[in-house]
Amino acid sequence: MSLLDASATQLLQQLAAAEITAVEVTQAYLDQITRHDATVRSFLSVPADEALAQAAAVDARRGRGERLGPLAGLPVAVKDNLCTTGWATSCGSRMLENFRSPYDATVIARLKAADAVLIGKTNLDEFAMGGSTENSAFFPTTNPWDASRTPGGSSGGSAACVAASMAPLSIGSDTGGSIRQPAGFCGVTGLKPTYGRVSRYGLVAFASSLDQVGPLARTAEDAALLLQTIAGHDPLDSTSAPVDLPDYVGTVREPLAGLRLGLVREHFGPGLDDEVEQAVRQAIREFESLGATVTEISLPHSQYAIATYYVIAPSEASSNLARYDGVHYGYRTDETEMLAELAAEKKQLQAAGDQAGLDDLDTPLMRLYRRSRSEAFGSEVKRRIMLGAYALSAGYKDAYYVKALKVRRLIRGDYDAAFQDVDLIVGPTAPTAAFGLGDMVDDPLAMYLQDLYTVSANLAGIAGMSIPCGMTAGGLPIGLHLQAPPFAEDRLLRAGHMFQQATDWHTRRPELTTASPSGTSQKQLP
Ligand code: GLN
Repeated sequence: MSLLDASATQLLQQLAAAEITAVEVTQAYLDQITRHDATVRSFLSVPADEALAQAAAVDARRGRGERLGPLAGLPVAVKDNLCTTGWATSCGSRMLENFRSPYDATVIARLKAADAVLIGKTNLDEFAMGGSTENSAFFPTTNPWDASRTPGGSSGGSAACVAASMAPLSIGSDTGGSIRQPAGFCGVTGLKPTYGRVSRYGLVAFASSLDQVGPLARTAEDAALLLQTIAGHDPLDSTSAPVDLPDYVGTVREPLAGLRLGLVREHFGPGLDDEVEQAVRQAIREFESLGATVTEISLPHSQYAIATYYVIAPSEASSNLARYDGVHYGYRTDETEMLAELAAEKKQLQAAGDQAGLDDLDTPLMRLYRRSRSEAFGSEVKRRIMLGAYALSAGYKDAYYVKALKVRRLIRGDYDAAFQDVDLIVGPTAPTAAFGLGDMVDDPLAMYLQDLYTVSANLAGIAGMSIPCGMTAGGLPIGLHLQAPPFAEDRLLRAGHMFQQATDWHTRRPELTTASPSGTSQKQLP
């Protein structure tokens, strides 16, 4: 088996047995990136020399018989909204294009402490707002299964690089489906942990009450490996839960006897693509043949999930993104130009004797804010800021934001009731397989509706996972969505592993086209 085909778990075993070196593994993945990332465009930056140096250091320590961390020598790609010292953390935005974080996110610190090799920062929708990675300020990522389609988003780079064997493991973030939907579109396994399970310290905030960091991998077993390293209480994140960390790696191979699955009635309605429905129903039959029982359940308030999410997430975003003012850090407009612009406007108003206009004229500081933000944010981010500022504004807050919080509580209540009777909830990850690049960029509502099945888990704070469960006739992966009660990630992983022992969807690999040397080279952020 080639290094690129092996699972992360297998690679770790071979590394531990000194059958291969960390430098060999890292080089194999870097070569794959060189061959294919000009087409896939998963990465915003690939610090190849540093990755090889980290790998060589692991090999040297192994050679001396030193104790190594649990991911020693394994390459891991990281979404570019996690703060990393030493390299840019751009968040897919012009606003942070040249930003260097002075500290590592806790997840990054844990990966480093586990002796993982950080192989690159992956592309995303700007500030993780989107579902196709087309909102990246730099370039869209393409789907490794079909370069004319999106990989999903916002963790599109993280999903695509695992699907294209450019990294055995990656980290994504999920505010409303951004790990699970791209995992589904790219045919990989992606897990959104329970809110509070993984530290958000150093994750650039989008919607703080919904954001979670989680693993993407080829298999549930590999996802368990990565989750084990990144999860656990962190005093630096006040919303991190002080609960015990189960032994995911030790238990993932244990099958679940008497598994009770709940099939959400509302998830098999209008909008669901036929092929996706067939594959999901077939996967559910597969679970039945493995001993699971299936009952139909109802999440009656799920019909309000999209509306609720698209009030709460933009509201929190508008507040979180207020920090990008062109003063503290990040992009700043050209001040000389800005002052000249103001002077010209003032002169014009004076000439016209427009006193009201003069009274309204921006102060230089206000103009600095305005220009910096309007030049550096993309249109989707601006849309969210405006939606959120509106929903939070005096007079409308009760009608929108507060009401959404109340519906959120009802959505959580639906789950609490459902989990009285079932162990896991099962359904499609997204209504369709990967859509085409450009299909929805100009239709935000259609794009938002893609999140129909995923946003509820974030609103309720529960855990969810997408695993590959089929292919369309056109050769695109289909994702199965499993949801679990809070802190039952072990159950998701065990169910995923059980399914992957009985099926081979997770072993399918896309046929990648090798880009011509004259093809567009990826942008390397500073
Ligand atoms: N597609 C959703 C949005 O645009 C989810 C994004 C996410 O999970 N980061 O908000």
